Amino acid sequence: MPTLKIHTENILPIIKKWLYSDRDIFVRELVSNACDALHKIKIIDSESGQIEHRIDIAIDKEKRTLTFVDTGLGMTSEEVEKYIAQIAFSGAEEFLGKYQSNNEKDQIIGHFGLGFYSAYMVAEKVTIDTLSYQQGAEPAFWACDGSSEYQLEKGQRSVRGTEITLYIDKENEEFLEEARLKKILDQYCAFLPFPISLNGKRINDTEPLWIKAPSECTENDYLEFYRKLYPMEQDPIFWVHLNVDYPFHLKGILYFPKITRRFDWAQSQIKLFCNRVFVSDHCKDIVPDYLMALRGALDSPDIPLNVSRSYLQMDRTVRQLSSHISKKVADRLCTLYETERETFINAWSDVEVIIKLGILQDEKFYERAKEFLIWKNLKAEWTTLEQYAELHKEAYQNKVFYTSDDKLSAPFLDLYKNKGIEILIANTHVDTALMNYLENKLSPITFQRVDGKVDDAILDTSRENTQLDDDGKTEGVKIADFFRSQLAEQSVEVEAKSLASDSLPAFIVIDENMRRMRDYLALSQQSLPGAFGDKQTFVVNTNSKLIHTIYGLKDKSPELAKEMTTHVYELSLLSQKELEPGRLSAFVERSTAVLEKLAQNLS
Ligand code: ADP
Ligand code: MG
Repeated sequence: MPTLKIHTENILPIIKKWLYSDRDIFVRELVSNACDALHKIKIIDSESGQIEHRIDIAIDKEKRTLTFVDTGLGMTSEEVEKYIAQIAFSGAEEFLGKYQSNNEKDQIIGHFGLGFYSAYMVAEKVTIDTLSYQQGAEPAFWACDGSSEYQLEKGQRSVRGTEITLYIDKENEEFLEEARLKKILDQYCAFLPFPISLNGKRINDTEPLWIKAPSECTENDYLEFYRKLYPMEQDPIFWVHLNVDYPFHLKGILYFPKITRRFDWAQSQIKLFCNRVFVSDHCKDIVPDYLMALRGALDSPDIPLNVSRSYLQMDRTVRQLSSHISKKVADRLCTLYETERETFINAWSDVEVIIKLGILQDEKFYERAKEFLIWKNLKAEWTTLEQYAELHKEAYQNKVFYTSDDKLSAPFLDLYKNKGIEILIANTHVDTALMNYLENKLSPITFQRVDGKVDDAILDTSRENTQLDDDGKTEGVKIADFFRSQLAEQSVEVEAKSLASDSLPAFIVIDENMRRMRDYLALSQQSLPGAFGDKQTFVVNTNSKLIHTIYGLKDKSPELAKEMTTHVYELSLLSQKELEPGRLSAFVERSTAVLEKLAQNLS
């Protein structure tokens, strides 16, 4: 009896043990071999279709067998010897070497050409009955029980093609359940190009949309296809159809999903195919990180069926794929922005984080994305930074004013609005990082949050009282000193300013750099080290009647002045959403007390 040509100990027990966690893939390997065989016969013999190209899978519970039958090119006895007995194991030594030297738990079976032998993960014996398409070929029968000996003799098969029979072992009886097998086939084989049946019932009926030319696909085709891939999800917002033949092969459709509240950013959902055979749900490394939120399907024969992570990271083709995908996505966004502005704007809230992360992670992406990185201002108009800078360069001295919260207290924002200053809204969690990045790129442009500084633009210097008193102090300085003395918080600075509004008594300025640091730390879930503290400035408005009244109480009713100062301070914190929750109850109590006093005075 001939023996399997392999120098090291028999590999089969290792395959069995090692791949235990993902036994399903034997189905994928056998079906994809059958597909390969059908592809080949189609190419070799244009008349081959006289015997229908098909794959039939059957379960025989009594015999405890699973058979995979194809009408592909078949094998001669010599070919079985060469491709199954020898070739399959030529990679085995390499495989074993890797297995022994490396603890990596990734599957490399397909990569090392051991696809066929994955059958031994679930079977105690495998037989092959095959008839080659070649004129005058004799059928061949091969059998091996997983030891290093095999049997090869004349077979029975009378129709061109190959029949592979798995004698399922005790531990793997589940694979004799039709439902179990159907599920695996649905996952891996739904888009295969030849009809596949399980126990006589057709499994696959779908032409994958990605193989069609984009010009032949309608909007509805894309939506239907998405619904097929992600049955329970909302419709996507738009998509990119990829179709490359050089320098690598890649087809696919990537969809921008609707970002819902429970959207899982960490979970990649792009399905990877290799010649229509499903490979995995994880496209890590093939798609740049920032596009991980996209959905859809990628199909490339240049990605081996089974590959280890470290292999992917090194691979040049994979890197090219990744940068090509990024470019295509950027081009699509750019076209959309230029030709379908309204659609683009409506989709912005779903795509902005993806775009912004792309800018932060990939310089090349930034170069493309700067054209369509848009911002909404408080009047709900949209602008790019370039347009903003162009328009306001002189007047704002290269500053870009923004707010993280367009629902900040109206009187405060009105200060800017009344001066006709354009304020952009930036409220995603990546904006702080993005602004740091853009400031580097676009120097001398700087971003200034409206509550980050008392900008000259919101002052009314004409009403400023610059007269000095006997101590050489202006009124403003005296007011500031007074409020400073009334405030219990020692670290808070106080400034008095002549603001261009009478209705806003005071507001809080939080140093821009300090705040960015805080945002940054909050993102990485750390808190600001104590020493840093928030550098806060309490700005009181010298044109506010309330401020003057409190100031006027300084001799008459010092107690009340102190209380009112605290109240105005907390009111500012509250309206800028900076009031700590712990402080709220004291604030509410005091507000109630004030109202009671007011009521007493009136009654
Ligand atoms: P790979 O598919 O990567 O070549 P496999 O171990 O899956 O590695 O298969 C080894 C070889 O056996 C194939 O290349 C092919 O020549 C032959 N083979 C396997 N299954 C079939 C089949 N159903 N029909 C014809 N040839 C097959
Ligand atoms: Mg194979």
